[in-house]
Amino acid sequence: MKEQCLICNKLFSKGRLQVHLKKKHKQDPEKYYTNYISSDIPKCPICQENCRLASISKGYLETCGKPSCRAKLVNIKGKENHIRACRERNKKWKTEILPDGRTRQQAIIESGQSKRNFKSIQTGKKISTSLKKVGNDGLTNFKRSFLEKRGVDNPMKLPSSVQKLSTSYNKRTGYD
Ligand SMILES: [Zn+2]
Ligand SMILES: [Zn+2]
Repeated sequence: MKEQCLICNKLFSKGRLQVHLKKKHKQDPEKYYTNYISSDIPKCPICQENCRLASISKGYLETCGKPSCRAKLVNIKGKENHIRACRERNKKWKTEILPDGRTRQQAIIESGQSKRNFKSIQTGKKISTSLKKVGNDGLTNFKRSFLEKRGVDNPMKLPSSVQKLSTSYNKRTGYD
């Protein structure tokens, strides 16, 4: 594709126009671009300076051209792309209907819910069965741990409870 010099209307093969402009018209590409193509110079979204002109045919870069600004923009765009991809996926899941009539989103939420419920039921079961399990000594784990901690296998046999019971019996009856 040929490029035309907008000052003298001559045609040039790709890349030659820039040389011609410099030689014949003493115009650097930036000056020529703003004077003859577009006076709007976009701003670098990172530092707000003017964007750098890539070439007369390609126009402006997305940034001022500083490596730091370029890297930041790539980083921002990567994050935006990631967010956009997540949003699109969620949107797809909201509208995608599974054979059972639920949306995929519902199915995912519910499967997470049921897994969580199942897990807590399992842990609860494990704790209660381990407490009810009768060991070789004929005691349940619950009773044994109580016994180990307090010295008796039943809260009613704790010395303080026994004491309380007997004093109230004494008070009521006058007998030991
Ligand atoms: Zn010319
Ligand atoms: Zn910049």
